Amino acid sequence: MAGFNTHITTSTIVGIGYGAAAYVFMPEVANGETVTITTCMLTAGLCSIAGILPDLDSGSGRPVKEISAFVAAMAPMLMIDRFRRFGMGPEEIALAGAIIYMVIRFGVAEVFKKYTKHRGMWHSIPAAISVALVAFLVVSGERLDVRLLKASAVFLGFMVHLTLDEIWSVEWHGVMPRFKKSFGTAIKFWNPNSMWSNFSTYSKLAILVMAAVGDPILMQQYHLHRTPEEMQAAAPGTVPTQPPEIATEPLTFPITR
Ligand SMILES: [Zn+2]
Repeated sequence: MAGFNTHITTSTIVGIGYGAAAYVFMPEVANGETVTITTCMLTAGLCSIAGILPDLDSGSGRPVKEISAFVAAMAPMLMIDRFRRFGMGPEEIALAGAIIYMVIRFGVAEVFKKYTKHRGMWHSIPAAISVALVAFLVVSGERLDVRLLKASAVFLGFMVHLTLDEIWSVEWHGVMPRFKKSFGTAIKFWNPNSMWSNFSTYSKLAILVMAAVGDPILMQQYHLHRTPEEMQAAAPGTVPTQPPEIATEPLTFPITR
């Protein structure tokens, strides 16, 4: 199997290429807006991280610790936009971010250690799709195309990892390839040795598909995704509340004298 450094380097290079391609080729949306350079850099970063995610199933050790710490730090940052739409203030966002960090850093790593086997169904195509769907749900935003761009970057990074694992399971003796036992255990749709893990993987995938399909509809229904016009309309309302607060402050000084 390809090592941690090989995975992160390759997925980072692919991610940068993907981000750059998005910047150059992504068409303009209706209001003349194009995809920003920041979005493209974030897209590259997501592909890069996704390239190490499959090895969360490799038991304890440096990669697992590093991966879970990295994902734990990134996830709350990506969710800031979503928190704001739920009407949360900065303190609430900080608290929610801390909780998510702890859950991923300590909870998810434990779950993987307990319930996954290396090169089990976590190294598979349905797992790659599931992770992309999670990314789609996490990175909320106004623009569906940008959400899809980020989610597909995660899928791409995950697939880069699986592809590298397959390449590394072929040994070359001169011109004769020799397939290791691990060949075919990364890019797969199901695990022939465990019906239960197939069932579990596809059940999670089905739930995530439903969540991802339902999310934009739900968000629109509850007006959690506001249009730019709505945001602009809401902005002046928040401004006048500030001056009276500032104005009351000098009045308190004569009392303390
Ligand atoms: Zn792997």
